[in-house]
Amino acid sequence: MTSPGLRSRTFRRVFVKAPGGVRIHYRKRKPQKLTCKSCGDVLKGVAHGIASQIKKLSKSQRVPSRKYGGHLCSKCSRKELVKRAEMMRNG
Ligand SMILES: [Zn+2]
Repeated sequence: MTSPGLRSRTFRRVFVKAPGGVRIHYRKRKPQKLTCKSCGDVLKGVAHGIASQIKKLSKSQRVPSRKYGGHLCSKCSRKELVKRAEMMRNG
């Protein structure tokens, strides 16, 4: 029998084939996907998962290397950059 703490749906269940039959392994769930801080859309090109797994990825695989990468989506970052450039021009 599994320990009571594992019986909740906090953990996801992975069915693993073992010599004695199918066994259930309990693993951590992935965190939610990152969203754009401006429009709320799901960010593309951003790795999501368990932090220890993401740390193993190369830096370029984690977030886009552009400015506001991992915070704003490409459309919103473009708007932001244009806005900033216009602010600079107008003083
Ligand atoms: Zn956005």
